[in-house]
Amino acid sequence: MVKLEPGGGSIVMLPSSGASGTFAAEAGTESITQLIQPPAQPPPPVTTPLPEDLPPGTTCPQCQAAIRGLADRTCPQCGRPYHEPCLNCQSLNPFWVRNCRGCGSDLLTLKQHMFANLNSQKQQILKLRESYGHDRTLPLLKYMSTVNHPDFVALKEWAKSMTMLIQKERRDIKAYVDGIRAQANAAMESQKYERVRQILEQVPRPLLDEPLRQQYVDAGEALTEVDSLVREIRNAISTKQYSQLLSCVQRYLELKANDPEAQNLQRKIEKLTMVVSAKGMKLRRIPGGRFYMGSHDSDEYLRNNEHPQHKVIITNNFFIGVYLVTQKQFQELMEYNPSIVAENEDCPVDSVTWYSAIEFCNKMSEAESLQPYYALKAVRRRSNGLIEGANVSILGGEGFRLPSEAEWEYACRAGSVSPWCFGDQVLDVSNYAWYYENSSMETHPVGQRKPNSWGLFDMHGNVMEWCYDWYNEFQYQQSSEEETDPTGPVDGTAKVLRGGAWQFGAEATRCAYRNNSTPDAIAGVIGFRVCRNASDDAM
Ligand SMILES: [Zn+2]
Ligand SMILES: [Zn+2]
Repeated sequence: MVKLEPGGGSIVMLPSSGASGTFAAEAGTESITQLIQPPAQPPPPVTTPLPEDLPPGTTCPQCQAAIRGLADRTCPQCGRPYHEPCLNCQSLNPFWVRNCRGCGSDLLTLKQHMFANLNSQKQQILKLRESYGHDRTLPLLKYMSTVNHPDFVALKEWAKSMTMLIQKERRDIKAYVDGIRAQANAAMESQKYERVRQILEQVPRPLLDEPLRQQYVDAGEALTEVDSLVREIRNAISTKQYSQLLSCVQRYLELKANDPEAQNLQRKIEKLTMVVSAKGMKLRRIPGGRFYMGSHDSDEYLRNNEHPQHKVIITNNFFIGVYLVTQKQFQELMEYNPSIVAENEDCPVDSVTWYSAIEFCNKMSEAESLQPYYALKAVRRRSNGLIEGANVSILGGEGFRLPSEAEWEYACRAGSVSPWCFGDQVLDVSNYAWYYENSSMETHPVGQRKPNSWGLFDMHGNVMEWCYDWYNEFQYQQSSEEETDPTGPVDGTAKVLRGGAWQFGAEATRCAYRNNSTPDAIAGVIGFRVCRNASDDAM
């Protein structure tokens, strides 16, 4: 902007756009006011500069134009104010004054300190930006933009544009990290743990937030577990430990659901360990072995009838139903369905007496052309077909039968020593069992929760299961430290019931939990599963 200077008559350039002489002076005044009087602060102490302060030959520190006095409050050429606030007390001093008239500070030294300070902050900001510490630059930038001094206008401008740049980069970084997160989640979902690691490894470390770091760790742990499972699987194959093999392959398939080799192996094990009866009932071969029966005294839910824990040896291999006996299976053989809880043929049969469970076993044997395992005499029936009384004795053989209480717990534990087949976390119960918390107060089709590591479903819930043994609350206290194929008391009034049920809480879903009822009892929480002796030892 070109204008005729009223005082000197020389032509000078003014920075303020479109301003006439009068307006230029006003604009200059305004800019001083803005710089030295932030609205929130009280007005600075007024100092009256004396014209004789002006050393001869003083030039504008910004544009080197000659200064004639303080009549102009700003440099007519570049607009720099002639007064600048003391960086210590905010008093206004002419820029050529050495010591502050308010506090006496050495103004040059103050400026030098501030300059050094802001420059080191600037370096810090650049470094932080380089290392993705964008968030941490913002308070520094904010401080930089509060310094009110004409000599620091350039730094303030720099802080302003850097703030905008940082904000933009933060948005870009967030979008990038969100993209990475989506990729990593997808890879995790499809169980590609190597891929998860690769995706996350390309991300600069500071950008990995806690969930992403955790995901990196999880993927690493999954890889390690897969490796160790592969070793265990090889070992189990060479030592022919099929129940071990089954557990390992099942866990492997949880981690690598789509691994074709593991799927093949599982099919082979299924073939080796599974029989399907003539009536389509699946039974799993359980190898004999030893385990600790009852609850450890440290179990927080321990009940008096569950201890002391004692060693039990199961001598022989046996088959046990993969599922509870369903209403459909019961109906087909018995030609009636006593269930009262759910109208669904895939749900477990309920409300069946112990005697009728025994009769079902015999009918299964007949259907398979096997000798019945039991003799049933003096049978008394209710009008709906259920047996409410009979003399039952064991004939033996390979026919279908109820598990002993020890066999049931052995099969339920599937090698585990914890309160549940999956460990000791009560929160996991709902993955394995239909019980009070998740059943909506009814039975559910069999096989919908997770199986235990021997591939048996609903051992922890849905309905309780009849065992053959008579019940005695003090049975374990009378047991030896080591029992071989225990069969319970010789007589009694109630039969053992095992496993949780849709109507009961988590406590009753534990492996060691014992319940009982008279053999003629009819209850919506009672069902059963069958088993058979396995004569051949070859797997
Ligand atoms: Zn100037
Ligand atoms: Zn001062």
